[in-house]
Amino acid sequence: SSGCGSSADRLAHLPEAIRAKIDNHPCFSEDAHHHYARMHVAVAPACNIQCHYCNRKYDCSNESRPGVVSELLTPDQAVKKVLAVAANIPQMTVLGIAGPGDPLANPERTLETFRQLSEKAPDIRLCVSTNGLALPGLVDEICKHNIEHVTITINCVDPDVGAKIYPWIFWNNRRIKGRKAAEILIAQQQKGLEMLVERGVLVKVNSVLIPGVNDAHLKEVSRIVKEKGAFLHNVMPLIAEPEHGTFYGLMGQRGPTNEELQTLQDACAGDMAMMRHCRQCRADAVGMLGEDRGHEFTLDKIEAME
Ligand code: SF4
Ligand code: SF4
Repeated sequence: SSGCGSSADRLAHLPEAIRAKIDNHPCFSEDAHHHYARMHVAVAPACNIQCHYCNRKYDCSNESRPGVVSELLTPDQAVKKVLAVAANIPQMTVLGIAGPGDPLANPERTLETFRQLSEKAPDIRLCVSTNGLALPGLVDEICKHNIEHVTITINCVDPDVGAKIYPWIFWNNRRIKGRKAAEILIAQQQKGLEMLVERGVLVKVNSVLIPGVNDAHLKEVSRIVKEKGAFLHNVMPLIAEPEHGTFYGLMGQRGPTNEELQTLQDACAGDMAMMRHCRQCRADAVGMLGEDRGHEFTLDKIEAME
């Protein structure tokens, strides 16, 4: 395989087994993203936490830009869509489940989609993203379905910071608020990370940079997740556009400037490859990175293709 110079060098320190998995992956190799396509299927409507920055009119900010909410699919519809896209876009090699809520807060729907796909399209590489709350309990299921990598959104490792980001979590059938909620979420995220690394599943960590809330703290997050074996830490900007609503409880919260984002990405880079071309794709993105061909593969169009 022939990664391009820059990304190959950037990833040179990673163990061979990890490099083999991220080589030719559109999200991790700057070269591959010109040659391979990815898609997300929106099968996961529910979420088990509330992030202050989430506006549920849109897709989960784990991985997605504000926009129109994705067309929700059942697992059967999602599988149909993936097979139709794969037949029409031969470069389609990667399938992710990233929303519109938290994929692991919808375990039946998410796992059923993976189960069918690993059977019907075994060459497609699978990934999932999550806020991490339900992760430890689902690690064994994730391993069964041969999921190549998991993205955990980790915005903090300190519950005092977390309390400013997460107003509540839904845990053991109860709503838990404040610092206690953040404490549980953080513990679950870290445990999930450790369990996946132990089992050889690649873990990428996403952090949303929220100026004045976790900007000074993200270096510490980066250090800890690297230490625990995350292969990539991706710092993404808070998207605080007027049409995306305000930061719940913090009116007028702004997103970071490009310079603030760059500075933090540099500070966190260390010896770990940083992903700077993540496009925060929508939960139903289809096509090459930076391109969205989802409108060509809506359900009615797929039915018409049959
Ligand atoms: Fe919203 Fe995603 Fe946070 Fe859930 S995890 S509240 S869907 S941003
Ligand atoms: Fe890749 Fe980021 Fe898009 Fe997910 S959101 S498909 S990781 S570029």
